[in-house]
Parts: sequence; structure tokens; C-alpha cells
Amino acid sequence: MSKPVQTMADRLQTGTPRLDEQVLRRQGGRRAQEITGTLQTTLDPERLIELFSDQIRDLVPHQGLRYRNDDLNIEVKLGTQARHSCTYKLNVGDEPLGRLTFRRTHKFHDVETQVIEQLLCSLLYPLRNALLYQDAVQMAQKDPLTGTCNRAALDEMLRRELSHAERHDSRCALIVLDIDRFKDINDRYGHIIGDCALRAVANTANSCIRDGDLLFRYGGEEFVVLMRETDLSGARLLAERIRENIQNTPCQCSGASIELTVSAGISAYRREDSPLSLFARADRALYRAKQAGRNRVCVAD
Ligand code: GH3
Ligand code: MG
Ligand code: MG
Repeated sequence: MSKPVQTMADRLQTGTPRLDEQVLRRQGGRRAQEITGTLQTTLDPERLIELFSDQIRDLVPHQGLRYRNDDLNIEVKLGTQARHSCTYKLNVGDEPLGRLTFRRTHKFHDVETQVIEQLLCSLLYPLRNALLYQDAVQMAQKDPLTGTCNRAALDEMLRRELSHAERHDSRCALIVLDIDRFKDINDRYGHIIGDCALRAVANTANSCIRDGDLLFRYGGEEFVVLMRETDLSGARLLAERIRENIQNTPCQCSGASIELTVSAGISAYRREDSPLSLFARADRALYRAKQAGRNRVCVAD
């Protein structure tokens, strides 16, 4: 009868001969050098963690690997949860890169954690490059004044959401919001306070939306909310909630308390829609809301 194949870690679990520890450490050092090139082939943090996990699993068996970076709001979860874990806080100098947690059903042996540390050296610089790239991508999609997503992000998300809605026969809706008589605010208080009022409106709108909804600054004093799995009546409820909240929350800017209102137009996805046609219907409804006296929500035909 042939003996079951034991990995290095299995042998450590059962007997821990010193020779095996040395061999494992040597293999760890060698593997760290070997995988550096492979890890440099991607700038996608999820793919990078996946590659790392695959490349080291035979040396350090694990059932789950979780990576979390709070600064960039990146979370990668691979495999399954298991009872035992070891977590590493990753840094290059004093630059934090996030936390990596290994999980498995049996305990991590001391020599294995030493090997993990050797292997992590090969991950640090590729991970740093991937995070720098992700940071640049996120910055390019953010409006610097309000911190919301910008027009470029809206264009991309609309394309993505509509193709998802078409493929899955699901719903999606849009609100286009425009601050009423905002030019008067700038004329009366100046642009700095005007900017502060814009930030306040973005914050209020953000506090009204659900987790899956996205707020964008379309341009000037116009905002868009993109809602997944929402029909016209759901979108109308949310638009009314945003409108009421903005009306009831005067902006506090440099000692001034500024009362604002918004008008909104809403539209819901139809199968024949393009991003442009969905947006144009909400925009026409917004125009009607302005025509009808402002501070109101109008639904697309
Ligand atoms: P309406 O109710 O018809 O929308 O009137 P309105 O005055 O809001 O519309 P209009 O399009 O005439 O003016 C929009 C104003 O928004 C003009 C511009 O001064 C202001 N605005 C656009 N972008 C910014 C910005 O980044 N900061 C500030 N402070 N003001 C801005
Ligand atoms: Mg406008
Ligand atoms: Mg306006």
C-alpha cells in the first residue's frame, strides 16, 4: 500500500524534525525570489492576492485569505473561513499597505509564520504599485470639491449598469438633481460660500441614499443618483426624500445659514435605453420641474 503524500506542513504538524524546518525556511526564501516576477504582472489588488495565494499554497497551506485596505476601501476575500488565523499588518517603511489574514482549520506552526514573512517580502512592492495605481484610478473618478464620484465615473457606471440590467432583465433608475437659483447664492454670498453650500448639498443627498445607490456630481450645481434594482416609484420616493432633506437642512457656511431647494427629474430603465436616452428623459423631467415652479420632483413620461 502506498503511503499518503505528506506536505512539509503536515510533517511539521506531526513531528517537527529540525531538518524539515530548515528545508522549509530555505524553500520559503527561494520561493519568495521566484514569485516576484509573477506578482509584478498585475496592478489589480484582487488578482494580486489571488496570485500570491496560489503561488504559496503548497508551502503554507491555507483555506482562506483576506486582504483589507481601509484607506482605499479595498477588500479581497478568497476561499473560506476557518478556525485558525494569522494576520499581518503590511508596511513599506512607514507607509501602511493594509492587513492580510491567512485562515485554516489547523494551527499555524512557528516555522510557517517565519516562512509567510519571507514570502510577504515578495508581495510588498507589487502590492504598493497596485495600490498607487488604484489610488490614481479612484482620484480620476472623484470630484475634488464634493468628494462624490464625477462625470467620468457616471459615464462608466451608467454603461456598466445598463448592460447589467439588460443581461439580467433587472431594473435601474436615475435622478437628476439641480439646485434652485444657485446663481443667486453665489451672487449674494460669493463663490467660496457657494462651494461650501455645494458640499453641504452633496452630504445631505449622500445621507439619504442606500448602500447600493451612487451619487455623482454631473457638473456645476447638478447631481445624479444612480439606483440599482429600483423602479420609477422607488426612485420617486428617494428623490422626494432628498428634496425634503435639503429643504429642511440649511447649509451652515462661515456663519451664514443658507436655505436651499432642489428640483429633480427621474427616469427608469427600459430595454431599448442607452445611457444617453435614460439620462435625457430624467433631464427633460427636471426641466418640467423647473418650469412648474422648482423645489419639486417630476417623473419622466
Ligand atoms: P435654476 O433654478 O434655473 O437652476 O437656476 P440656477 O441659478 O441654479 O441656474 P444657472 O444655470 O443659471 O446657474 C448655475 C450656477 O451654478 C452658475 C454658477 O455660478 C454656479 N456654479 C456652478 N458650478 C459651481 C461651483 O463649482 N462653485 C460655485 N460656487 N458655483 C458654481
Ligand atoms: Mg444647472
Ligand atoms: Mg440650478
